[in-house]
Amino acid sequence: MMEGRTGWWETVIGLEVHAQVVSKAKLFSGAATQFGAEPNTQVSPVDAAFPGMLPVINRFCVEQAVKTGLALDAEIRLESVFDRKNYFYPDLPPGYQISQYQQPVVGRGKVALDMPDGTTREIGITRLHLEQDAGKSLHDQHPILSYVDLNRAGIALMEIVSEPDLRSAEEAGIYLRKLRSILRYLGTCDGNMEEGSLRCDCNVSVRRPGEPYGTRCEIKNLNSIRHVMQAIEYEARRQIDIIEEGGTIAQQTRLFDAGRNITRPMRSKEEAHDYRYFPDPDLSPLVLDPEWVTRMRVQLPELPDTKKARFVSAYGLSPDDAAVLVAEKETALYFERVAAGRDPKAAANWVMGDLFGALNRLGVGIEQSPVSAEQLGSLMDLIANGTLSGRLAKEVFAEMVATGADPGSIVEAKGLRQVTDSGAIEAAIDTVLAAHADKVAEYRAGRDKLYGFFVGQIMRATQGKANPALVNELLREKLTGESGGAR
Ligand code: ADP
Ligand code: MG
Repeated sequence: MMEGRTGWWETVIGLEVHAQVVSKAKLFSGAATQFGAEPNTQVSPVDAAFPGMLPVINRFCVEQAVKTGLALDAEIRLESVFDRKNYFYPDLPPGYQISQYQQPVVGRGKVALDMPDGTTREIGITRLHLEQDAGKSLHDQHPILSYVDLNRAGIALMEIVSEPDLRSAEEAGIYLRKLRSILRYLGTCDGNMEEGSLRCDCNVSVRRPGEPYGTRCEIKNLNSIRHVMQAIEYEARRQIDIIEEGGTIAQQTRLFDAGRNITRPMRSKEEAHDYRYFPDPDLSPLVLDPEWVTRMRVQLPELPDTKKARFVSAYGLSPDDAAVLVAEKETALYFERVAAGRDPKAAANWVMGDLFGALNRLGVGIEQSPVSAEQLGSLMDLIANGTLSGRLAKEVFAEMVATGADPGSIVEAKGLRQVTDSGAIEAAIDTVLAAHADKVAEYRAGRDKLYGFFVGQIMRATQGKANPALVNELLREKLTGESGGAR
Protein backbone atom coordinates (compact mmCIF):
# COMPACT_ATOMS: atom_id res chain seq x y z
CA MET A 1 0.00 0.00 0.00
CA MET A 2 1.13 3.53 -0.76
CA GLU A 3 -0.29 6.66 0.77
CA GLY A 4 -1.28 9.47 -1.54
CA ARG A 5 -2.73 12.92 -0.84
CA THR A 6 -6.25 11.50 -0.87
CA GLY A 7 -5.76 8.16 0.86
CA TRP A 8 -4.31 4.71 0.33
CA TRP A 9 -3.46 3.04 -2.98
CA GLU A 10 -2.60 -0.51 -3.82
CA THR A 11 0.13 -1.26 -6.36
CA VAL A 12 -0.59 -4.12 -8.76
CA ILE A 13 2.33 -5.74 -10.55
CA GLY A 14 2.71 -8.50 -13.12
CA LEU A 15 6.17 -9.49 -14.37
CA GLU A 16 7.30 -10.83 -17.72
CA VAL A 17 10.67 -12.46 -17.20
CA HIS A 18 12.91 -13.36 -20.10
CA ALA A 19 15.17 -16.18 -19.08
CA GLN A 20 17.89 -17.22 -21.50
CA VAL A 21 18.00 -20.99 -21.82
CA VAL A 22 21.33 -22.55 -20.87
CA SER A 23 22.13 -24.18 -24.20
CA LYS A 24 25.24 -24.38 -26.35
CA ALA A 25 23.19 -23.86 -29.51
CA LYS A 26 20.40 -21.46 -30.48
CA LEU A 27 16.68 -22.28 -30.57
CA PHE A 28 16.45 -22.89 -34.33
CA SER A 29 20.07 -23.03 -35.49
CA GLY A 30 23.31 -24.72 -34.51
CA ALA A 31 25.18 -21.43 -33.92
CA ALA A 32 26.99 -21.06 -30.59
CA THR A 33 25.67 -18.94 -27.74
CA GLN A 34 28.75 -18.12 -25.69
CA PHE A 35 28.55 -14.78 -23.90
CA GLY A 36 31.08 -12.10 -24.80
CA ALA A 37 32.25 -13.59 -28.14
CA GLU A 38 33.55 -11.27 -30.89
CA PRO A 39 30.56 -9.62 -32.63
CA ASN A 40 28.98 -11.62 -35.45
CA THR A 41 31.10 -14.73 -34.93
CA GLN A 42 28.15 -16.84 -33.72
CA VAL A 43 25.69 -16.35 -36.54
CA SER A 44 24.34 -19.06 -38.81
CA PRO A 45 22.60 -18.34 -42.13
CA VAL A 46 19.32 -19.08 -40.32
CA ASP A 47 20.00 -16.35 -37.75
CA ALA A 48 20.96 -13.93 -40.52
CA ALA A 49 17.75 -14.84 -42.41
CA PHE A 50 19.44 -15.84 -45.65
CA PRO A 51 16.87 -16.83 -48.27
CA GLY A 52 15.79 -20.44 -48.12
CA MET A 53 17.25 -21.18 -44.69
CA LEU A 54 14.91 -23.20 -42.52
CA PRO A 55 14.64 -23.31 -38.72
CA VAL A 56 15.09 -26.65 -36.95
CA ILE A 57 13.95 -26.81 -33.35
CA ASN A 58 16.57 -27.54 -30.70
CA ARG A 59 15.24 -30.43 -28.63
CA PHE A 60 17.45 -29.55 -25.68
CA CYS A 61 15.88 -26.08 -25.39
CA VAL A 62 12.39 -27.61 -25.37
CA GLU A 63 13.52 -29.93 -22.60
CA GLN A 64 14.70 -26.97 -20.49
CA ALA A 65 11.37 -25.18 -20.96
CA VAL A 66 9.43 -28.29 -19.93
CA LYS A 67 11.62 -28.85 -16.87
CA THR A 68 11.08 -25.24 -15.86
CA GLY A 69 7.34 -25.58 -16.36
CA LEU A 70 7.26 -28.69 -14.17
CA ALA A 71 9.23 -26.88 -11.45
CA LEU A 72 6.65 -24.08 -11.56
CA ASP A 73 3.98 -26.69 -10.91
CA ALA A 74 2.51 -25.75 -14.28
CA GLU A 75 0.46 -27.43 -16.93
CA ILE A 76 2.67 -28.88 -19.69
CA ARG A 77 0.86 -28.50 -22.99
CA LEU A 78 1.48 -31.52 -25.19
CA GLU A 79 0.88 -29.54 -28.36
CA SER A 80 2.15 -26.01 -28.81
CA VAL A 81 2.70 -23.72 -31.77
CA PHE A 82 5.39 -21.29 -32.89
CA ASP A 83 4.12 -18.06 -34.42
CA ARG A 84 5.74 -15.23 -36.29
CA LYS A 85 5.55 -11.92 -34.47
CA ASN A 86 6.11 -9.34 -37.18
CA TYR A 87 7.96 -6.09 -36.60
CA PHE A 88 10.94 -4.24 -38.01
CA TYR A 89 14.13 -3.90 -36.01
CA PRO A 90 17.64 -3.48 -37.47
CA ASP A 91 18.87 -6.37 -35.32
CA LEU A 92 16.04 -8.69 -36.41
CA PRO A 93 17.00 -9.76 -39.95
CA PRO A 94 13.86 -11.78 -40.86
CA GLY A 95 11.53 -8.94 -39.86
CA TYR A 96 9.78 -11.23 -37.41
CA GLN A 97 10.51 -13.02 -34.18
CA ILE A 98 9.54 -16.67 -33.82
CA SER A 99 7.60 -16.87 -30.58
CA GLN A 100 4.88 -18.97 -29.08
CA TYR A 101 1.75 -16.92 -28.68
CA GLN A 102 -1.69 -18.44 -28.29
CA GLN A 103 -0.46 -21.96 -27.70
CA PRO A 104 2.56 -21.85 -25.39
CA VAL A 105 4.35 -25.00 -24.27
CA VAL A 106 3.63 -24.27 -20.59
CA GLY A 107 0.34 -23.04 -19.14
CA ARG A 108 -0.75 -22.04 -15.65
CA GLY A 109 1.50 -22.64 -12.69
CA LYS A 110 2.58 -21.04 -9.43
CA VAL A 111 5.49 -19.91 -7.28
CA ALA A 112 5.48 -19.78 -3.46
CA LEU A 113 7.10 -16.76 -1.85
CA ASP A 114 8.52 -16.79 1.67
CA MET A 115 7.48 -13.45 3.11
CA PRO A 116 9.57 -11.62 5.74
CA ASP A 117 6.83 -12.11 8.36
CA GLY A 118 7.13 -15.89 8.01
CA THR A 119 3.99 -16.38 5.90
CA THR A 120 3.88 -17.84 2.39
CA ARG A 121 2.32 -16.09 -0.63
CA GLU A 122 1.41 -17.89 -3.80
CA ILE A 123 1.94 -16.02 -7.08
CA GLY A 124 0.23 -17.32 -10.20
CA ILE A 125 2.18 -18.05 -13.36
CA THR A 126 0.12 -17.34 -16.47
CA ARG A 127 2.35 -19.12 -18.97
CA LEU A 128 5.87 -19.91 -20.07
CA HIS A 129 6.63 -19.80 -23.76
CA LEU A 130 9.70 -20.27 -25.94
CA GLU A 131 10.88 -17.51 -28.24
CA GLN A 132 13.97 -16.24 -30.01
CA ASP A 133 16.06 -13.38 -28.75
CA ALA A 134 16.92 -10.52 -31.14
CA GLY A 135 20.42 -9.29 -31.96
CA LYS A 136 21.96 -6.17 -30.47
CA SER A 137 22.28 -2.69 -31.95
CA LEU A 138 25.46 -0.99 -30.81
CA HIS A 139 25.12 2.78 -30.75
CA ASP A 140 28.32 3.63 -28.91
CA GLN A 141 30.96 2.37 -31.33
CA HIS A 142 30.93 5.20 -33.87
CA PRO A 143 29.94 8.89 -33.75
CA ILE A 144 27.22 8.71 -36.39
CA LEU A 145 26.73 5.02 -37.25
CA SER A 146 25.09 2.19 -35.40
CA TYR A 147 26.43 -1.33 -35.63
CA VAL A 148 24.55 -4.58 -35.40
CA ASP A 149 25.80 -7.69 -33.60
CA LEU A 150 23.78 -10.80 -34.41
CA ASN A 151 25.43 -13.14 -31.91
CA ARG A 152 22.38 -12.99 -29.70
CA ALA A 153 19.88 -13.30 -32.58
CA GLY A 154 18.07 -16.61 -32.30
CA ILE A 155 19.18 -17.56 -28.78
CA ALA A 156 16.40 -19.40 -26.92
CA LEU A 157 14.46 -17.46 -24.31
CA MET A 158 11.80 -18.68 -21.93
CA GLU A 159 9.32 -15.91 -21.30
CA ILE A 160 7.74 -16.48 -17.91
CA VAL A 161 4.64 -14.36 -17.38
CA SER A 162 3.14 -13.86 -13.93
CA GLU A 163 -0.44 -13.05 -13.03
CA PRO A 164 -0.93 -9.51 -11.68
CA ASP A 165 -0.61 -10.96 -8.17
CA LEU A 166 2.30 -8.95 -6.81
CA ARG A 167 1.47 -6.00 -4.56
CA SER A 168 4.70 -4.15 -3.84
CA ALA A 169 8.24 -3.56 -5.07
CA GLU A 170 9.43 -5.72 -2.20
CA GLU A 171 7.22 -8.63 -3.28
CA ALA A 172 8.46 -8.27 -6.85
CA GLY A 173 12.03 -8.53 -5.52
CA ILE A 174 11.21 -11.67 -3.51
CA TYR A 175 9.46 -13.18 -6.55
CA LEU A 176 12.44 -12.57 -8.83
CA ARG A 177 14.90 -14.01 -6.31
CA LYS A 178 12.74 -17.09 -5.90
CA LEU A 179 12.31 -17.56 -9.63
CA ARG A 180 16.06 -17.17 -10.17
CA SER A 181 16.73 -19.67 -7.41
CA ILE A 182 14.41 -22.23 -9.06
CA LEU A 183 16.02 -21.67 -12.49
CA ARG A 184 19.47 -22.15 -11.01
CA TYR A 185 18.46 -25.29 -9.15
CA LEU A 186 17.23 -26.67 -12.46
CA GLY A 187 20.21 -25.37 -14.40
CA THR A 188 17.86 -24.24 -17.18
CA CYS A 189 18.98 -20.57 -16.96
CA ASP A 190 22.08 -19.24 -15.19
CA GLY A 191 20.10 -16.29 -13.81
CA ASN A 192 22.96 -13.91 -14.50
CA MET A 193 21.29 -10.51 -14.69
CA GLU A 194 24.49 -8.54 -15.41
CA GLU A 195 25.06 -10.58 -18.57
CA GLY A 196 21.41 -10.18 -19.50
CA SER A 197 20.49 -13.84 -19.22
CA LEU A 198 17.60 -12.83 -16.96
CA ARG A 199 15.68 -9.66 -17.90
CA CYS A 200 12.38 -8.39 -16.73
CA ASP A 201 9.49 -6.26 -18.01
CA CYS A 202 7.36 -4.83 -15.19
CA ASN A 203 3.66 -4.11 -15.59
CA VAL A 204 2.50 -1.66 -12.96
CA SER A 205 -0.89 -0.15 -12.15
CA VAL A 206 -2.48 1.34 -9.05
CA ARG A 207 -6.00 1.15 -7.63
CA ARG A 208 -7.99 1.91 -4.53
CA PRO A 209 -8.08 -1.23 -2.37
CA GLY A 210 -10.97 -3.46 -3.47
CA GLU A 211 -11.53 -1.68 -6.80
CA PRO A 212 -10.96 -3.27 -10.25
CA TYR A 213 -7.46 -3.18 -11.74
CA GLY A 214 -6.32 0.16 -13.14
CA THR A 215 -4.62 0.85 -16.47
CA ARG A 216 -1.06 -0.45 -16.50
CA CYS A 217 2.23 0.81 -17.83
CA GLU A 218 4.94 -1.60 -18.85
CA ILE A 219 8.55 -0.81 -17.98
CA LYS A 220 10.85 -2.60 -20.38
CA ASN A 221 14.04 -4.53 -20.01
CA LEU A 222 15.17 -4.15 -16.43
CA ASN A 223 18.35 -6.03 -15.71
CA SER A 224 18.73 -5.98 -11.95
CA ILE A 225 16.40 -6.68 -9.05
CA ARG A 226 17.30 -3.33 -7.54
CA HIS A 227 16.23 -1.53 -10.73
CA VAL A 228 12.98 -3.50 -10.85
CA MET A 229 12.16 -2.39 -7.32
CA GLN A 230 13.16 1.24 -7.92
CA ALA A 231 11.20 1.38 -11.17
CA ILE A 232 8.05 0.01 -9.51
CA GLU A 233 8.29 2.48 -6.62
CA TYR A 234 8.73 5.39 -8.98
CA GLU A 235 6.05 4.28 -11.41
CA ALA A 236 3.40 3.65 -8.74
CA ARG A 237 4.06 7.06 -7.23
CA ARG A 238 3.87 8.70 -10.67
CA GLN A 239 0.51 7.08 -11.41
CA ILE A 240 -0.93 7.97 -8.01
CA ASP A 241 0.07 11.62 -8.51
CA ILE A 242 -1.58 11.75 -11.95
CA ILE A 243 -4.85 10.21 -10.76
CA GLU A 244 -4.98 12.38 -7.68
CA GLU A 245 -4.52 15.45 -9.91
CA GLY A 246 -7.63 14.31 -11.80
CA GLY A 247 -5.76 12.81 -14.76
CA THR A 248 -5.92 9.33 -16.27
CA ILE A 249 -3.18 6.82 -16.97
CA ALA A 250 -2.38 6.19 -20.61
CA GLN A 251 -1.33 2.60 -21.30
CA GLN A 252 2.28 2.96 -22.25
CA THR A 253 5.58 1.26 -22.67
CA ARG A 254 8.19 3.05 -20.56
CA LEU A 255 11.91 2.88 -19.91
CA PHE A 256 13.71 3.06 -16.58
CA ASP A 257 16.47 5.65 -16.38
CA ALA A 258 18.73 4.22 -13.69
CA GLY A 259 20.87 7.37 -13.55
CA ARG A 260 17.91 9.57 -12.63
CA ASN A 261 15.85 6.82 -10.96
CA ILE A 262 12.74 7.62 -13.02
CA THR A 263 10.69 5.96 -15.76
CA ARG A 264 9.99 7.80 -19.00
CA PRO A 265 7.74 7.09 -21.98
CA MET A 266 9.17 5.02 -24.84
CA ARG A 267 6.11 4.44 -27.02
CA SER A 268 2.39 4.09 -26.72
CA LYS A 269 1.50 0.48 -26.06
CA GLU A 270 1.12 -1.61 -29.18
CA GLU A 271 -1.67 -4.17 -29.30
CA ALA A 272 -1.22 -7.84 -30.04
CA HIS A 273 -3.06 -7.51 -33.38
CA ASP A 274 -0.45 -4.98 -34.53
CA TYR A 275 2.08 -7.80 -34.71
CA ARG A 276 0.05 -9.86 -37.18
CA TYR A 277 0.86 -13.10 -35.39
CA PHE A 278 0.41 -16.22 -37.48
CA PRO A 279 1.75 -19.79 -37.17
CA ASP A 280 5.23 -20.05 -38.70
CA PRO A 281 4.75 -22.15 -41.84
CA ASP A 282 8.35 -23.38 -41.55
CA LEU A 283 7.65 -25.14 -38.27
CA SER A 284 5.13 -27.82 -37.51
CA PRO A 285 3.40 -27.78 -34.12
CA LEU A 286 5.57 -28.95 -31.26
CA VAL A 287 4.17 -32.27 -30.01
CA LEU A 288 5.44 -33.79 -26.78
CA ASP A 289 5.32 -37.44 -25.81
CA PRO A 290 3.49 -37.69 -22.46
CA GLU A 291 5.85 -40.44 -21.28
CA TRP A 292 8.82 -38.20 -21.99
CA VAL A 293 7.17 -35.47 -19.91
CA THR A 294 6.63 -37.96 -17.08
CA ARG A 295 10.31 -38.92 -17.23
CA MET A 296 11.23 -35.22 -16.98
CA ARG A 297 8.98 -34.88 -13.97
CA VAL A 298 10.56 -37.86 -12.21
CA GLN A 299 14.04 -36.55 -12.93
CA LEU A 300 13.45 -33.09 -11.45
CA PRO A 301 16.00 -32.26 -8.76
CA GLU A 302 14.92 -31.42 -5.24
CA LEU A 303 13.72 -27.79 -5.45
CA PRO A 304 14.11 -24.99 -2.89
CA ASP A 305 10.69 -25.40 -1.20
CA THR A 306 11.08 -29.16 -0.71
CA LYS A 307 14.66 -28.78 0.41
CA LYS A 308 13.67 -26.11 2.92
CA ALA A 309 10.97 -28.37 4.39
CA ARG A 310 13.49 -31.19 4.64
CA PHE A 311 16.09 -28.97 6.34
CA VAL A 312 13.47 -28.07 8.96
CA SER A 313 12.29 -31.63 9.57
CA ALA A 314 15.53 -33.59 9.17
CA TYR A 315 17.97 -31.15 10.76
CA GLY A 316 15.66 -29.31 13.16
CA LEU A 317 16.59 -25.91 11.68
CA SER A 318 14.29 -22.90 11.99
CA PRO A 319 12.37 -22.07 8.79
CA ASP A 320 14.30 -18.79 8.55
CA ASP A 321 17.68 -20.49 8.72
CA ALA A 322 16.54 -23.18 6.31
CA ALA A 323 15.37 -20.51 3.84
CA VAL A 324 18.78 -18.82 3.93
CA LEU A 325 20.61 -22.11 3.40
CA VAL A 326 18.50 -23.30 0.46
CA ALA A 327 18.40 -20.01 -1.47
CA GLU A 328 21.46 -21.08 -3.49
CA LYS A 329 21.89 -24.70 -4.46
CA GLU A 330 25.63 -24.53 -3.76
CA THR A 331 25.07 -23.25 -0.21
CA ALA A 332 22.62 -26.04 0.53
CA LEU A 333 25.08 -28.63 -0.77
CA TYR A 334 27.91 -27.14 1.26
CA PHE A 335 25.80 -27.09 4.42
CA GLU A 336 24.79 -30.72 4.02
CA ARG A 337 28.41 -31.79 3.68
CA VAL A 338 29.33 -29.93 6.87
CA ALA A 339 26.29 -31.21 8.76
CA ALA A 340 26.80 -34.87 7.80
CA GLY A 341 27.27 -36.75 11.07
CA ARG A 342 27.61 -33.52 13.05
CA ASP A 343 25.43 -31.12 15.02
CA PRO A 344 23.28 -29.51 12.27
CA LYS A 345 22.49 -26.35 14.20
CA ALA A 346 26.17 -25.74 14.92
CA ALA A 347 26.92 -26.42 11.25
CA ALA A 348 24.25 -23.90 10.20
CA ASN A 349 25.74 -21.32 12.56
CA TRP A 350 29.23 -21.78 11.17
CA VAL A 351 28.02 -21.53 7.57
CA MET A 352 25.70 -18.54 8.05
CA GLY A 353 27.94 -16.76 10.54
CA ASP A 354 31.70 -17.09 10.14
CA LEU A 355 31.72 -18.52 6.62
CA PHE A 356 29.23 -16.04 5.08
CA GLY A 357 31.09 -13.22 6.88
CA ALA A 358 34.40 -14.33 5.38
CA LEU A 359 32.94 -14.80 1.87
CA ASN A 360 31.38 -11.34 2.07
CA ARG A 361 34.67 -9.75 3.03
CA LEU A 362 36.43 -11.58 0.20
CA GLY A 363 33.60 -10.76 -2.21
CA VAL A 364 33.35 -14.35 -3.48
CA GLY A 365 30.61 -16.95 -3.72
CA ILE A 366 30.60 -20.22 -1.82
CA GLU A 367 31.94 -22.07 -4.88
CA GLN A 368 35.19 -20.09 -4.46
CA SER A 369 35.28 -20.49 -0.68
CA PRO A 370 38.86 -20.79 0.61
CA VAL A 371 37.49 -23.18 3.24
CA SER A 372 35.97 -26.39 1.89
CA ALA A 373 32.98 -28.06 3.52
CA GLU A 374 35.25 -30.95 4.55
CA GLN A 375 37.68 -28.54 6.22
CA LEU A 376 34.90 -26.74 8.11
CA GLY A 377 33.59 -30.16 9.16
CA SER A 378 37.03 -31.16 10.55
CA LEU A 379 37.16 -27.88 12.46
CA MET A 380 33.84 -28.75 14.09
CA ASP A 381 35.21 -32.20 14.91
CA LEU A 382 38.17 -30.61 16.69
CA ILE A 383 35.71 -28.70 18.86
CA ALA A 384 33.62 -31.79 19.51
CA ASN A 385 36.62 -33.87 20.62
CA GLY A 386 37.90 -31.15 22.93
CA THR A 387 41.01 -30.22 20.94
CA LEU A 388 39.71 -26.68 20.38
CA SER A 389 37.61 -24.35 22.47
CA GLY A 390 35.06 -22.19 20.64
CA ARG A 391 37.42 -19.26 20.95
CA LEU A 392 40.43 -21.09 19.55
CA ALA A 393 38.26 -22.47 16.76
CA LYS A 394 37.50 -18.92 15.60
CA GLU A 395 41.22 -18.23 15.50
CA VAL A 396 41.86 -21.40 13.52
CA PHE A 397 38.98 -20.54 11.16
CA ALA A 398 40.47 -17.10 10.42
CA GLU A 399 43.76 -18.83 9.59
CA MET A 400 41.93 -21.34 7.35
CA VAL A 401 40.33 -18.45 5.44
CA ALA A 402 43.69 -16.71 5.05
CA THR A 403 45.73 -19.76 4.02
CA GLY A 404 43.32 -22.47 2.90
CA ALA A 405 45.15 -24.91 5.19
CA ASP A 406 43.50 -27.80 7.05
CA PRO A 407 42.47 -27.05 10.64
CA GLY A 408 44.54 -30.01 11.95
CA SER A 409 47.78 -28.69 10.51
CA ILE A 410 47.05 -25.15 11.74
CA VAL A 411 46.51 -26.48 15.26
CA GLU A 412 49.83 -28.33 15.11
CA ALA A 413 51.83 -25.55 13.45
CA LYS A 414 50.58 -22.81 15.78
CA GLY A 415 50.30 -24.91 18.90
CA LEU A 416 46.68 -23.89 19.29
CA ARG A 417 45.56 -27.11 20.92
CA GLN A 418 43.50 -26.26 23.96
CA VAL A 419 44.91 -27.19 27.34
CA THR A 420 42.74 -29.81 29.02
CA ASP A 421 45.41 -30.96 31.44
CA SER A 422 43.92 -30.01 34.81
CA GLY A 423 47.35 -29.93 36.46
CA ALA A 424 48.56 -27.22 34.05
CA ILE A 425 45.35 -25.23 34.45
CA GLU A 426 45.49 -25.51 38.21
CA ALA A 427 49.04 -24.22 38.17
CA ALA A 428 47.95 -21.21 36.09
CA ILE A 429 45.06 -20.54 38.50
CA ASP A 430 47.36 -20.71 41.49
CA THR A 431 49.77 -18.24 39.92
CA VAL A 432 46.99 -15.79 39.08
CA LEU A 433 45.31 -16.00 42.49
CA ALA A 434 48.67 -15.59 44.26
CA ALA A 435 49.48 -12.50 42.16
CA HIS A 436 46.11 -10.94 43.02
CA ALA A 437 45.66 -11.85 46.64
CA ASP A 438 43.97 -8.48 47.31
CA LYS A 439 41.31 -9.16 44.66
CA VAL A 440 40.79 -12.69 45.98
CA ALA A 441 40.02 -11.19 49.37
CA GLU A 442 37.60 -8.68 47.83
CA TYR A 443 35.90 -11.46 45.91
CA ARG A 444 35.48 -13.51 49.01
CA ALA A 445 34.06 -10.44 50.72
CA GLY A 446 31.28 -10.43 48.15
CA ARG A 447 32.51 -8.66 44.97
CA ASP A 448 31.23 -11.37 42.64
CA LYS A 449 32.09 -9.38 39.55
CA LEU A 450 35.77 -10.12 40.03
CA TYR A 451 35.16 -13.68 38.89
CA GLY A 452 35.34 -12.60 35.25
CA PHE A 453 38.61 -10.79 35.95
CA PHE A 454 40.20 -14.01 37.24
CA VAL A 455 39.00 -15.95 34.20
CA GLY A 456 40.49 -13.28 31.92
CA GLN A 457 43.84 -13.45 33.70
CA ILE A 458 43.94 -17.23 33.56
CA MET A 459 43.11 -17.28 29.84
CA ARG A 460 45.83 -14.73 29.25
CA ALA A 461 48.32 -16.81 31.24
CA THR A 462 47.50 -19.81 29.04
CA GLN A 463 47.50 -17.80 25.76
CA GLY A 464 43.78 -18.42 25.51
CA LYS A 465 44.29 -22.15 25.25
CA ALA A 466 42.85 -23.34 28.53
CA ASN A 467 39.61 -25.29 28.21
CA PRO A 468 37.01 -22.78 29.46
CA ALA A 469 34.83 -25.38 31.15
CA LEU A 470 37.78 -26.76 33.11
CA VAL A 471 38.92 -23.28 34.06
CA ASN A 472 35.47 -22.56 35.47
CA GLU A 473 35.27 -25.80 37.37
CA LEU A 474 38.74 -25.53 38.93
CA LEU A 475 38.55 -21.82 39.62
CA ARG A 476 35.28 -22.18 41.51
CA GLU A 477 36.74 -25.03 43.50
CA LYS A 478 39.80 -22.95 44.45
CA LEU A 479 37.86 -19.82 45.35
CA THR A 480 35.32 -21.66 47.48
CA GLY A 481 37.54 -24.46 48.78
CA GLU A 482 40.32 -22.19 50.06
CA SER A 483 37.86 -19.80 51.63
CA GLY A 484 36.56 -22.69 53.64
CA GLY A 485 33.04 -21.32 53.32
CA ALA A 486 30.20 -22.20 51.05
CA ARG A 487 29.54 -19.64 48.34
P1 ADP B 1 1.15 -8.03 -23.13
O1 ADP B 1 1.43 -9.26 -23.91
O2 ADP B 1 0.51 -6.96 -23.90
O3 ADP B 1 2.36 -7.52 -22.42
P2 ADP B 1 -0.32 -9.64 -21.18
O4 ADP B 1 -1.79 -9.79 -21.10
O5 ADP B 1 0.48 -10.79 -21.61
O6 ADP B 1 0.04 -8.36 -22.03
O7 ADP B 1 0.13 -9.21 -19.72
C1 ADP B 1 1.42 -8.92 -19.46
C2 ADP B 1 1.62 -8.76 -17.97
O8 ADP B 1 0.84 -7.69 -17.46
C3 ADP B 1 1.27 -9.95 -17.12
O9 ADP B 1 2.38 -10.21 -16.28
C4 ADP B 1 0.08 -9.50 -16.31
O10 ADP B 1 0.10 -10.07 -15.03
C5 ADP B 1 0.31 -8.03 -16.21
N1 ADP B 1 -0.92 -7.25 -16.01
C6 ADP B 1 -2.09 -7.37 -16.63
N2 ADP B 1 -2.97 -6.45 -16.18
C7 ADP B 1 -2.32 -5.71 -15.25
C8 ADP B 1 -2.69 -4.58 -14.44
N3 ADP B 1 -3.88 -4.02 -14.50
N4 ADP B 1 -1.74 -4.09 -13.61
C9 ADP B 1 -0.52 -4.63 -13.53
N5 ADP B 1 -0.13 -5.67 -14.27
C10 ADP B 1 -1.01 -6.21 -15.13
MG1 MG C 1 4.43 -7.56 -22.57
